[in-house]
Amino acid sequence: MTEKADLTSIDVTAVLDRAAAGGRITPQEALVLYRDAPLHALGAAADAVRRRKYAGTEHIATYIIERNINYTNVCVTACKFCAFYAAPKDKDKGWTRDLDDILRRCAETVELGGTQIMFQGGHHPDYGVEYYEKHFAAIKKEFPQLVIHSLGASEVEHMARISGVSVEEAITRIHAAGLDSFAGAGAELLPERPRKAIAPLKESGERWLEIMEIAHRLGVESTSTMLMGTGETNAERIEHLRMIREVQDRTGGFRAFIPYTYQPENNHLKGRTQATLFEYLRMIAIARLFLDNVQHIQGSWLTTGKEVGQLSLHYGADDLGSIMLEENVVSSAGARHRSNRMEIIDLIRKAGRVPAQRSTTYEHLVVHDDPANDPVDERVMSHISSTAIEGGTAHPELKLLASN
Ligand code: SF4
Repeated sequence: MTEKADLTSIDVTAVLDRAAAGGRITPQEALVLYRDAPLHALGAAADAVRRRKYAGTEHIATYIIERNINYTNVCVTACKFCAFYAAPKDKDKGWTRDLDDILRRCAETVELGGTQIMFQGGHHPDYGVEYYEKHFAAIKKEFPQLVIHSLGASEVEHMARISGVSVEEAITRIHAAGLDSFAGAGAELLPERPRKAIAPLKESGERWLEIMEIAHRLGVESTSTMLMGTGETNAERIEHLRMIREVQDRTGGFRAFIPYTYQPENNHLKGRTQATLFEYLRMIAIARLFLDNVQHIQGSWLTTGKEVGQLSLHYGADDLGSIMLEENVVSSAGARHRSNRMEIIDLIRKAGRVPAQRSTTYEHLVVHDDPANDPVDERVMSHISSTAIEGGTAHPELKLLASN
């Protein structure tokens, strides 16, 4: 499907009505809605689907408290949009964290009420399956209550290659060591043209999906993501959704879909524009309508700002993602939005929803239905380390708990 395909026979209003009523729409219809439907009507249709999907709890919007633990920025894959990585030969910029450091970060996460860690880093030339087995096992031994929702198909492909094993074996081993679920990392854009343009050394989009499908069949669920705004067409965005929906029809293993916008600083794609905030909201809405087999659509305020995150809850999103106690990857590329738990609760409430802290698998852990009982701990806030702020050359030190 291309932007130029003859889509003139598609009736926007009729398709929107069918989608709002729960009917499945084709990729061609999705493209027409994404491109041409009035924004407010698209949002209303997506919200109608969300309300029906969450009948009984449609008044709730969720968030999670987690921490990204970036174990290394050393990476051989050199994605052009990435402002985080250091090439192995760039000894001044590259860093790795040792296990004690990682465990200390886990301890801080538990102390602040976080329930999930996202282990995220570069494709280090020496890190095979054994590295992840050792670290996940150590984390689970010390902090069995922490859910390890981490990595993705790209890391699996890389670690399997380094260790000389199949991806099936790699997934089975890291799952046994403690990995609970895969984050949707590395999906970027799945169609071939835009993927090659921004991540030429990464596995293909088909391979990314194949590995996710293997993981789902091995009992490891995941989320799915999309990086918007690096020069892809509308048709390629919809093709990305089509590829996810097709796998999901077979496995049901994608818990959520999370689009986020490209951040343009400090990378090799200078000059490319970000997706507009309207395009982002349209994507949230079309994802809710087109991905009828994916339960959760996550709005992101980290890259789009709090107001847009809030609006996303009226465009089909049921979840506002995480208060990340530490984040360095998109922050390195320019994302500067910060918030704390009280602000996120307030933001959700002012969007007309009841906020609820959730688990990785979307159970409601705390429902904030009475403002008088709201948590008041200002330390539970999203944060970036000195690496992201200063483009740091030293091992980053988290300042979050400096006041402790
Ligand atoms: S996005 Fe990931 S794989 Fe690509 S260069 Fe950055 S750290 Fe490496």
